[in-house]
Amino acid sequence: MAHLPGAEKIPFRRSLQLKFALTYIIIIAAVLILLNTYPVLVSQDLVFRSKASLLQSQAAVIADTIARTEALTAEAVRDYVEPLGYTGQFRVLVTDEFGLILYDSDELRFTQGRYAMLGEVTAALRGYDVATSSYLDGAFHSRSAVPVIYRDMTIGCVYLYERDADQGALLTEIQRNLRSISLVICVLVLILSVFFSKALTRRVGDLLRAIRIVREGEYSHRVSIRGGDELSQLAGEFNQLTDRLQTTEEVRRRFVSDASHELKTPLASIRLLTDSILQTDGMDPDMVRDFVSDIGEEADRLTRISEKLLTLTRMDSAAPVETAPVDVAAVVEKVGRMLLPLAGDRNISVETALQPGCVVEATEDDLYQIAFNLMENAVKYNVPGGHVMVDLRSMGDLILLTVEDTGVGIPEEDLPKIFDRFYRVDKARSRAAGGTGLGLSIVRDTARQHGGAVTAERREAGGSRFQVAFPRREEKGGPTP
Ligand code: ADP
Repeated sequence: MAHLPGAEKIPFRRSLQLKFALTYIIIIAAVLILLNTYPVLVSQDLVFRSKASLLQSQAAVIADTIARTEALTAEAVRDYVEPLGYTGQFRVLVTDEFGLILYDSDELRFTQGRYAMLGEVTAALRGYDVATSSYLDGAFHSRSAVPVIYRDMTIGCVYLYERDADQGALLTEIQRNLRSISLVICVLVLILSVFFSKALTRRVGDLLRAIRIVREGEYSHRVSIRGGDELSQLAGEFNQLTDRLQTTEEVRRRFVSDASHELKTPLASIRLLTDSILQTDGMDPDMVRDFVSDIGEEADRLTRISEKLLTLTRMDSAAPVETAPVDVAAVVEKVGRMLLPLAGDRNISVETALQPGCVVEATEDDLYQIAFNLMENAVKYNVPGGHVMVDLRSMGDLILLTVEDTGVGIPEEDLPKIFDRFYRVDKARSRAAGGTGLGLSIVRDTARQHGGAVTAERREAGGSRFQVAFPRREEKGGPTP
């Protein structure tokens, strides 16, 4: 694709794609960390609790049994402890009240006769029941110590220790499984996040590219709309905006080319006429006068076109105008007086039926423009001896100004176009009548500016009928809604 101005490449580290992908990855990483730690910690804790309480109750059973001996000797302890059958499961250690080891089921350690330097034993000899459990090197290590009490006196302590590698292996297995699952999820999320973020940013990229293409003047460019999400809505809105832009641009181009064409024609005539005068030696003075008067007419036409163009441009700029209540009948009468000479020349009668009190909110100049253009056309495009009928009345909320004539009429197919700028049904006739093709566009735009609308139709009896409808001006001080 051609490089578009302003389309500088966004570095990946600042791209939307990376931000989206990172968001997915961070969220999933947090979930995975939780998944890998929380269940393990909870199950560890459960094992700790059950082990500690089991060991403690078993230590208590041994301590109760030993408490029945009269004298706490190594032999007596052994005789009591071994039949209980715990020694296969745990390391059982029994001390006297000073911590001296009387019995140790783990004989290989040769601890008998030594002092037990264990925190649990010290605590138990002080009268406390102690139970702890920890997880280390893939095994659970549980310890418990309880005092041996005889007639309310601590005469020794029973210490149990268990190393459970089976449960430890189970936990390690769970940990390993969670890690593998997490790894698979990680890879999947990575692939999906790259895929999704790419798909999303590709659509944003398409939109961005389209905006730049349109900005460069290619108004026919559209973005394709996929899916039904906000991005496709955005694309739809963009396409509609571009549609309007394209229409406006086409109207503007047509207007500029029509305007320059219209201005060129009289200029070319002036050029031709002056050349003829300059190049013809000894031209008849009457002919020179005719030519010069033609030049004057063309200059007049240029003036008319430029004045009307100015009017239209002023309206396009939509500068707010100060309006006031205007009596339409007075304006129509004034226009009638102005047109008297033109109508008289062609033997055309102008009849008016004006209802008094038809007041609209506008400017007098604008209403004059509307009435003048319509009534002048009715005279200009009339037949000698024809009639022009102007009717003004108020109907409901509207003020209706109707201008009818018995003239040449407008073909049905031209009716929708006559309000376009520079549009003329019969160019030669319009030209001969001093027309510019702008009068009706001025009428339409001016009427619209004051909330009105204009329509044109053929009269059944021949000729044309133009009607302008204005909203009737609300009387001041009247009932307010
Ligand atoms: P122009 O300056 O040529 O009169 P307008 O915009 O006023 O321009 O009118 C556009 C065209 O509409 C005219 O050229 C003419 O062909 C046609 N037209 C306007 N009014 C009438 C009418 N009353 N009867 C017949 N044709 C009309």
